[in-house]
Amino acid sequence: MEIKESKIAIYPGSFDPITNGHIDILRRASVLFDKVIVLVAHNNSKKSHFSPQKRKEMIVAAIKELDINNVDVDVYGGLTIDYAKKAHAKYLIRGLRAVSDFEYEFKLAATNYYIDHDIEMIFLMAHNNFEFISSSSIMEMTLGGVDVSKLVPNSVYHELLKLKQK
Ligand code: ADP
Repeated sequence: MEIKESKIAIYPGSFDPITNGHIDILRRASVLFDKVIVLVAHNNSKKSHFSPQKRKEMIVAAIKELDINNVDVDVYGGLTIDYAKKAHAKYLIRGLRAVSDFEYEFKLAATNYYIDHDIEMIFLMAHNNFEFISSSSIMEMTLGGVDVSKLVPNSVYHELLKLKQK
């Protein structure tokens, strides 16, 4: 009998910070794959609110709040495709919100295909109640005094409160 290779997927992103929209995609991906690695993209040219390590910590804490055990978290500063090769992952997960995400994700998929034909991108559609959530809107609402406790994991909410008090 042929032994099947385990299906490993990477879910790359800025996660600055992780939101319940990301979590919904992650939860659904964890059902489809044997293992999912959330990869915090650490890009020096992009200004971020939280350090890569803090973003990782918040994701690790958020995963503990969920009932899933096939998800790892890592930070990487290079090309996602290179990380995927090292991790023996053949799938990249991305979430799609409305039409606005499509063009960017389409170009990203084409670029990744140019770099490596063996990597398959998998797009999961945002569910209705999460579609409006983005890391940047979470930051704007927080700084504007809006309660975002229902839109982010607890671990993130606590960090946002600390950030606001500064
Ligand atoms: P990046 O800077 O790489 O786009 P993000 O953290 O903004 O990183 O997003 C990572 C992935 O998660 C992207 O594919 C994005 O479209 C998706 N995503 C972000 N927010 C949501 C959401 N509310 N629902 C579904 N997918 C989302």
